[in-house]
Amino acid sequence: MTISKQDRGYGRLVVDFVNPETTDEVGLKYFQNIQKVFGFTSGFMDKAKVQFPTFDNFNNLMNDVEKQCFQLILKKINIELEIMAAIPGVFLYYDIYSKKIRIEESVTPHSRDGLCIGKTDHKEKIISIKKLKEMIEKGRADAGYKLKKTDALKNLPILEKMSEKILAHKGISKERYYEILKYEEYYRNLNIEHWKIQNTQKILKKLLNDIIQGNSLSDSKILKKILLKYNQIPKAKVIISNEGTIQDSSPFSEDFFIDRKNRSVYEYTSQVYDWPISYCLVEYLRDQRNIEYLKKCGQCGCFFIAKDPRRQFCNEPNNCKKIHFNKYRTKRMKEVYRNPSSDKFKINYI
Ligand SMILES: [Zn+2]
Repeated sequence: MTISKQDRGYGRLVVDFVNPETTDEVGLKYFQNIQKVFGFTSGFMDKAKVQFPTFDNFNNLMNDVEKQCFQLILKKINIELEIMAAIPGVFLYYDIYSKKIRIEESVTPHSRDGLCIGKTDHKEKIISIKKLKEMIEKGRADAGYKLKKTDALKNLPILEKMSEKILAHKGISKERYYEILKYEEYYRNLNIEHWKIQNTQKILKKLLNDIIQGNSLSDSKILKKILLKYNQIPKAKVIISNEGTIQDSSPFSEDFFIDRKNRSVYEYTSQVYDWPISYCLVEYLRDQRNIEYLKKCGQCGCFFIAKDPRRQFCNEPNNCKKIHFNKYRTKRMKEVYRNPSSDKFKINYI
């Protein structure tokens, strides 16, 4: 008996998601496995690679001075958010060159009896710091506002100081500053996606350990969560194959992974990671016999799908079996030769 090639692919996708150390590696390996498991074209990987945001790529976008400037931009955004909490606006941005503030207000008209609401209107305004201060002081009527007001007023001079600091960075032109400002969105999305990967890794690692240790899965909260995700996957359609037979279509299309524009980053990451991973895991575990092929290497601790259930060590690329037995042999030899009462030192008299 042996494990099917398809099931091995499903299993490998899951263990390859757990093993790598950096989330950059996890993501790239993931899209490679997706291509193999779902039989995508070779062009798929090129597209996926370009679109997957990595810390490696992000670090190459800026030099050291620009990175310092970027850190200040992140702090500036946090301050802007604190100030925004105290005014009836949905967007606030302080431009360090013009020293003006752009705010966006959204106004939704209510009928006098409060039972009907009209269409929300978005208004953009460019105002001075002085005007903003007046707006904050005038305040809003909701509860807990006093605290927000105090915070916002305290933050206003900090915002100006922070902007001075950004301007003080030598060698960054105005054009370059606006480019760096745009990296913030890339950075935010990058963090959301990599956080998702890291979190998924933790959950899967726990589940794989439970399976290997033979713990009962009937109460496993993680497995239940995975089944829930599996059940959210849009049902595969039936199609006519090239041979004229009726078949299930692939559960995911190439576009499902490539198209990042029509979904928010939250929606994208939860679909593109949760659905295929739960799909592969469920399909792998569906055949109970596959469980004995899931292994944890006795040397390096990596998870792997074994060729034979008796295997205890992953082989490629770590050569763990050899390392383990060399270590074991050295240890045994040391024990034997350092111990005067060992058989090696006994003289057999005839
Ligand atoms: Zn190993």
